[in-house]
Amino acid sequence: MLPTLPTLPGRPGSPSIPQPSLRRLPQYHHYLVDLAAKGISQVSCSVIGRDLNLVPVQVRKDLQYTGIIGKPKIGYSVSELVQAIETFLGWNNVNEAFLVGVGNLGTALLGHERFSKFGLRIVAAFDTDPAKIGQWIHEKAVLSLDKLADLAPRMSIHLGIITTPAEAAQEIADEMVKGGIQAIWNFAPVKLKVPEHIIVHNEDLYSTLASLSWKLARRFKVPIQEREAV
Ligand code: NAD
Repeated sequence: MLPTLPTLPGRPGSPSIPQPSLRRLPQYHHYLVDLAAKGISQVSCSVIGRDLNLVPVQVRKDLQYTGIIGKPKIGYSVSELVQAIETFLGWNNVNEAFLVGVGNLGTALLGHERFSKFGLRIVAAFDTDPAKIGQWIHEKAVLSLDKLADLAPRMSIHLGIITTPAEAAQEIADEMVKGGIQAIWNFAPVKLKVPEHIIVHNEDLYSTLASLSWKLARRFKVPIQEREAV
């Protein structure tokens, strides 16, 4: 089974691909990785079709969805094809992330394009609010939270971002762990209980603010109090 995300209607900017072609791409990938391991660097549609028992025209059509076009009489570079399929399926996305909680903060993070310059791409968002589920926010699909644990391993997502109210955060962290997510960027002001191997980074703006206020208070108040004490 493959991720359901590409089948959502109206995903902006995504090439549409028929489900049978989408389902065959992992098969091509597996085959091509084997070829590469055998030291084969070029392959044609006829050879792929023969080995996988598919019509060469169908093979050509399927592979075109990845953006790769073969050269007449030469075929495809095996390594380029492997790369193109991985990119198309989102398999080389170690820094792609799911975000949960599409409220004020979540929406702002979804729209923050500069994250991509820092190796982070939020590929989908999740919420429990029926009014938000099925929407596109900053070109990201908002899905029901109950899909997260299933989709994360299929899309090789290892990073989760939590931008929900504190009381919901633990339940979401549990779902993320269930889905094989390895690292959580937590914006909710709550300490999460997760297995030891999970990396958690808490972005606790309130603690930072408390520290700032305390330092500011000291700058203005402490000297006065100290003077009064003398
Ligand atoms: P918000 O109320 O605007 O949005 C919260 C979102 O989480 C909503 O879309 C809601 O439907 C969703 N949600 C609630 N329960 C859920 C669940 N169980 N599963 C999935 N989604 C769920 O809140 P916000 O202002 O965006 O803040 C989000 C978190 O970030 C809070 O914990 C807040 O304390 C923290 N935070 C926010 C800011 C900020 O600037 N907004 C600053 C610091 C910290």
